[in-house]
Amino acid sequence: MKKKAAHQPGHLDVAAFARERGRLEGMQPVAGMVRLSEGLDPPADAPAPQVQWSAEGLWSQPLGDQPQPKLRLRAQTTVWLTCQRCLQPVALPLEIDRTLRFVRDEDEAARLDEEEEEEDVLALTRALDLPALLEDELILALPIVPQHETCPQALPWSGEPAVPPGGVPDVDAPEHPFAVLKQLSRKE
Ligand SMILES: [Zn+2]
Repeated sequence: MKKKAAHQPGHLDVAAFARERGRLEGMQPVAGMVRLSEGLDPPADAPAPQVQWSAEGLWSQPLGDQPQPKLRLRAQTTVWLTCQRCLQPVALPLEIDRTLRFVRDEDEAARLDEEEEEEDVLALTRALDLPALLEDELILALPIVPQHETCPQALPWSGEPAVPPGGVPDVDAPEHPFAVLKQLSRKE
């Protein structure tokens, strides 16, 4: 009996993997993903997060149509980003579940990828770099405006009254806080 060659994540024969309904899974440190890490902002004392991922080969052949090799890619991790409200680091869960469809050549892939909304369409290859694809998908899934649900610190420019309790230190300003209020109410 001929033993099947093991599928290599860095050098995956997509058609063979899909036909065999192969499955690969693993853990990979976020720090090892250079392009993804560039956009991240982890605090020095934060534990190094891992990406937990799996890839599953899918194969269907609609009647009278070309066979359709597909790859379902799932991953989850935690990423440190800069909160756009308080500018402090925020840890956010990142999760992907993408199905990629493979077609014979680049031109067809480009044309179908435009039309398709649900699936990404790529050209079939015998040497897919799965870790690079995984990194691409994680980068695409990053939130555009990362924010804390509730920021840990109040913003320096909000929540406090404009006039400090001890009076206004500015020499040009009226001497008493109430004078400011009076002026404000007169303007209305
Ligand atoms: Zn925040």
